[in-house]
Amino acid sequence: MTSAPSIDGFNWDYAPAPERTRPDIASEYGLFIDGEFVEPVAGKSFKTVNPATGRKLAMIAQGDEADVDRAVKAARAAGGRWSRLKPTERAKYLFRIARRLQECARELAVLESMDGGKPIRESRDIDLPLAAQHFFYHAGWADKLHWAFAGCQPKPLGVCGQIIPWNFPLLMAAWKIAPALACGNTVVLKPAETTPLTALHLAKLFQEVELPPGVVNIVTGAGETGAAVVEHPGMKKIAFTGSTQVGRHIMHALADRDISLTLELGGKSPNIVFADAAIDQAVEGVVQGIWFNQGHVCCAGSRLFVEECIVDEFVAALRERMAKLRVGDPLDKNTDIGAINSTEQLSRIQSLVEQGQQEGCILHEVNDEALPRRGNWHRPCFFTGVEAAHTIAREEIFGPVLAIMTFRTPEEAIRRANSTPYGLAAGVWTDKGSKVFNIAAQLEAGVVWCNTYNRFDAASPFGGCKASGFGREGGRHGLRAYLKLAGGVA
Ligand code: ADP
Repeated sequence: MTSAPSIDGFNWDYAPAPERTRPDIASEYGLFIDGEFVEPVAGKSFKTVNPATGRKLAMIAQGDEADVDRAVKAARAAGGRWSRLKPTERAKYLFRIARRLQECARELAVLESMDGGKPIRESRDIDLPLAAQHFFYHAGWADKLHWAFAGCQPKPLGVCGQIIPWNFPLLMAAWKIAPALACGNTVVLKPAETTPLTALHLAKLFQEVELPPGVVNIVTGAGETGAAVVEHPGMKKIAFTGSTQVGRHIMHALADRDISLTLELGGKSPNIVFADAAIDQAVEGVVQGIWFNQGHVCCAGSRLFVEECIVDEFVAALRERMAKLRVGDPLDKNTDIGAINSTEQLSRIQSLVEQGQQEGCILHEVNDEALPRRGNWHRPCFFTGVEAAHTIAREEIFGPVLAIMTFRTPEEAIRRANSTPYGLAAGVWTDKGSKVFNIAAQLEAGVVWCNTYNRFDAASPFGGCKASGFGREGGRHGLRAYLKLAGGVA
């Protein structure tokens, strides 16, 4: 299942390190409306499965328009009191949620890995701490909004419809719910159909901290449920994270409505490595950039541009590092690359990899250990011989697949990096500070990481430009997206 690095002819394998915590998973989950778990009006449900085993984890209620309507009514009814609550009191609820998240972190991390397929090390060390951080951070803002937007009389928008994807299920819920609540809004959240469990367990924490009923409502289901959230006339804001295709559809659907909208969509982010970069550090960053969370990251550094004079050295170092990545059981603490979230996503990755080969790109798969027989797996791989016109250099793959290209001058690197419809993130690797600032300023991306990659913080705004969407999440910019401002410019 996992690779056993061979050193001096011996197989030095890690001892298995299975996660022992077992979360309490109910056999079925209702919708979370007005502070209670309720049956969906039409009585329909669907199953959520563990992508590492293919086994069912639970049955999940399938919400439809009538359920979304119930949720919006509950959110609207709760909105008056919640928005008028003293901001310091709102902050207390957010602090309580953050603390409960920390207390339940282990169980939620395991649940996240079981439902989504990501390695436990990631859900434990990244998703959960960041989710709690977002609630802590926004608790701090709740009573300081008039300082954040001085002279602008910040007011909540009302009921916010929030639709999230499957790559960071709990973290995305926290990113969206925490700022909305801090600003005095109420929420109807629609988790992704393949990863609803942690959001539903978050709802249990809301009950425990006695968050007033209706302030957050969670309606599970697939695309039609999401569409019902978007189309409900009671929504004052839609915040969506997901594919560019669905984002475009949402923009069309809302074109003639007076509604606030933020979209965080796909990406095909470039990582640019100059010859003067610290090579080992850059290799590690590139690995982080593309093979983190199986490449299920909208800002994954999926296009690597290496300065031509170091490409052989760089690719050799990358290959060596990649051979040590361990693919396998997400609940083993040694695992680097877990399961692909769904069979549909796996087929999409496989077909793009096949297309890359058909178009003449050279596939490098270093890790050849047997993969588990059940579940959805894809070995990390990279392509060389890639040109800008190749499909794998243009289309978002959302899997552990890297396309390597070269450049000769900084101008060429910038031009090639920007030559994509997307504009979510980028990475620059060099030891020259002036080059960092010069290049970063010319990259068309919402986020540019310098000598690092995939770093997130609640205080740091995240979001894209071009086909990667608009609006920011995190920091003061993220708050702005949940407020009406009057009487000034912010
Ligand atoms: P991905 O390709 O990352 O799965 P999607 O855009 O398909 O991204 O899904 C992201 C979220 O959007 C999920 O919660 C999904 O159920 C929801 N969704 C899918 N189709 C629609 C739609 N037409 N309107 C609103 N939400 C949708």
